[in-house]
Amino acid sequence: MPERMADPRAVFEVINAELMLDGDAAQNLATFCTTWTEDEIRRLMDLCVAKNMIDKDEYPQTAEIEARCVRILADLWNSPAEATTIGCSTTGSSEAAMLGGLAMKWRWRQRRAREGKPADKPNLVCGPVQICWEKFARYFDVELRQIPLEDDATGLRPHQLAAYVDENTIGVVAILGVTFTCDYEPVAAISAELDRIHRETGADVPVHVDAASGGFVAPFLQPGLAWDFRVGRVVSINASGHKYGLAPLGVGWVVWRDAAELPEDLVFRVNYLGGDMPTFALNFSRPGGEVVAQYYLFQRLGREGYRRVQGACADTARWLGERIAELGPFELLYDGRGALPAVSYKLKSDHTGFTLYDLTEQLRVRGWQVPSYPLPADRDGTVVQRVLVRHGIGRDEISLLVDDLERCLERLSGGTTGAPARPSFHH
Ligand SMILES: *Cc1c(COP(=O)(O)O)cnc(C)c1O
Repeated sequence: MPERMADPRAVFEVINAELMLDGDAAQNLATFCTTWTEDEIRRLMDLCVAKNMIDKDEYPQTAEIEARCVRILADLWNSPAEATTIGCSTTGSSEAAMLGGLAMKWRWRQRRAREGKPADKPNLVCGPVQICWEKFARYFDVELRQIPLEDDATGLRPHQLAAYVDENTIGVVAILGVTFTCDYEPVAAISAELDRIHRETGADVPVHVDAASGGFVAPFLQPGLAWDFRVGRVVSINASGHKYGLAPLGVGWVVWRDAAELPEDLVFRVNYLGGDMPTFALNFSRPGGEVVAQYYLFQRLGREGYRRVQGACADTARWLGERIAELGPFELLYDGRGALPAVSYKLKSDHTGFTLYDLTEQLRVRGWQVPSYPLPADRDGTVVQRVLVRHGIGRDEISLLVDDLERCLERLSGGTTGAPARPSFHH
């Protein structure tokens, strides 16, 4: 820290220049997070810069807006009683997952106590999950039973569950939009299999849906798909407002089927800000702007707007899937149909000469961020790539990506050497 104060404009310019070294968010095809914004969102964020989400007494209207968002989501996710559902905003799906996981752990422990059985070996069953569930398990002392991915599977398959679920299972996490492949796990079929396991073994296991991305996609693009509170075993759902919810970074949501699913002793009463406010969260102080921006987006876009935005992204993703299939060396894992607006693919098994990591590096020369990564166990020998199509990344941009993919492939296969590809088109 310097000893002396400085002129705000000078400091701003220095930091601004430094930030230019960051990647261009609009060319980042690796992230699920919103990189699009509107002027009105910036203005609302500005108005809320001092508003602290925890301070519900000083900012009762921000608290009311949060409560409305919870009811809107409960309704969107087909809660049987959206007006009385319980839920809250978080900093993202990771915090929301911790809260959902904790509620399941507490409910399981209460049930074990009622039955006079030991409650010292809780486990959580899931397929290829995002790292937040590994964190939840480690931080809160729960055994994570991660079911390996079967050949040609894009997520957990229901028939795998029986070997992993038992009386110590606090819950099964089903993913709506698997991080590695972008496909949905079949929540209704997972739940039906858990019904069967319940009948046969007596283990009555709830489902939490990690709908980080899918929670804002499925209601608009796949309204007939029962993945939410229409499925009886689903007790809680999390989603990232800052992914396909289109809000700026820093907001997630968790909603429970009904208040009874959230054990009372997880809720703390805060009275030193004035009033007596119930709170269930890992953080204390947190900005209110993201929540207000989420509410703005619900009102601004409505169901029609979300349908159009996600629909346009999905069209582009399907188009990209077709182009990638035509390029030759790739085999699609997920072709952009039926789940998230995205594609995932690998190199054909007989392909030689270069790896997907080489391709990632080549694309990076032109500014594109397209990640390559291994699938989770037991298929970690398979490297895949994925492209997320988000609001603000249009067909035009994706067609430029396809052109660059083609050039990179040519170069990597030794078709051309030397000078990097020149763009034929400028914005
Ligand atoms: C992104 C993601 C998370 C983590 O969400 P954050 O909002 O980044 O904390 C958890 N689960 C899934 C399936 C995700 O895609």
